[in-house]
Amino acid sequence: MARILEPKCRQCRREGEKLYLKGERCYTSKCAIVKRNYAPGVHGVKGKPRLTEFGTQLREKQKAKRTYRLLETQFRNYYETAIKKPGNTGELMLRMIESRLDNVVYRAGFGSSRDLARQLVSHGHFLVNGTPVNIASFQTKAGDVITVKQNKKGEAYWENLLKITDQQRGEIPSWLQVDRKGYQITVTQLPSMEIIQSPINMTLIVEFYSR
Ligand code: SF4
Repeated sequence: MARILEPKCRQCRREGEKLYLKGERCYTSKCAIVKRNYAPGVHGVKGKPRLTEFGTQLREKQKAKRTYRLLETQFRNYYETAIKKPGNTGELMLRMIESRLDNVVYRAGFGSSRDLARQLVSHGHFLVNGTPVNIASFQTKAGDVITVKQNKKGEAYWENLLKITDQQRGEIPSWLQVDRKGYQITVTQLPSMEIIQSPINMTLIVEFYSR
């Protein structure tokens, strides 16, 4: 499986904000954005360059790809699919990305980072409506019930993970319902732009691809 190889903290520094790619470390003073909040490379410390319109759109697209851990082809495919559907392309795109199984697992607190959530999914730790699913990009839909597969990692592992993510992120998004004792996630509705409250400006990304 192809993946982004650039060091994670370097990606945050390039975007100039926390993308929360390393789980627990992101919430400590060891975070590179806390320690060195300037772009990587020898010129970064001199300050941010003024961006053109294209540059602003490009940066937003890169930030989204890095946040959701997607490669260019995967990310562009979401745009290509969304543009063919009626409705707000940016919202449709964001909804598809948020509905990915690895993202749902991360949002529900069963992964301290999206990379860990993806690894847990691809290693077969989850069932969707009782069926094993190990495809990270699997699209969940309203009413889907995701459960942790028995006999995989022990209860202590999940309890510890949930405790950590609870401390880090607090509330679970309103479009997900989590039964912590039953290790179960229910997708109550498909997420909308208002519910997600994403820091990513999808309009800039749609403008980038429609150039
Ligand atoms: Fe980004 Fe986390 Fe590294 Fe901080 S610790 S720079 S949030 S990946």
